Amino acid sequence: MAEQQTDARRKAIAALIRDVPDFPTPGIVFKDITPLLADAARFADVIELMAAPWRGERIAQVVGVESRGFILGAPMALALGAGFVPVRKPGKLPSRTSRLEYALEYGTDSLEIHQDACEQGARVLVIDDVLATGGTAQATCALVEGIGADVVGCGFLMVLDFLPGRQRMGGRRIESVLSF
Ligand code: AMP
Repeated sequence: MAEQQTDARRKAIAALIRDVPDFPTPGIVFKDITPLLADAARFADVIELMAAPWRGERIAQVVGVESRGFILGAPMALALGAGFVPVRKPGKLPSRTSRLEYALEYGTDSLEIHQDACEQGARVLVIDDVLATGGTAQATCALVEGIGADVVGCGFLMVLDFLPGRQRMGGRRIESVLSF
């Protein structure tokens, strides 16, 4: 795809991401992707642009993080000819799970994965909408590796570059459509 055309698509996508100040707490500017998801052509562009860097990487499974990671991760899996694996908030997955607790700015949060979700050594791509501080993505990678799969990289719709997410992810491959 021509570079100019890709830039135009990125701009059209960015124009449909709504900044909501002070949500969910004062001082946070929430990146609301619902206007983008509601637009058929732009939603399709997002999935194509997010999938492009990983074509040829023989991704066996896409791991999506609850809940916007499900919305982007499932069509990504189909685009890459891969399976889909959900990583969920505690108590939602019905079978045997692995759980990981990770630190937030204030307090902690936890995520779970089914222990048998991936084959040993499976090539896995982790998907979420936003990379902010990196805590969620880092915990997800640790969960996936904890059940024996191999994290090839992480894909996001957007990276918030004023936060230390990228640095926190160390040497992992990170791809995103947009940066703010
Ligand atoms: P973090 O663990 O700090 O990288 O935060 C990433 C998770 O929180 C992702 O699942 C995002 O959906 C969500 N998130 C963090 N910051 C924002 C934001 N400014 N707007 C929308 N979602 C966010």
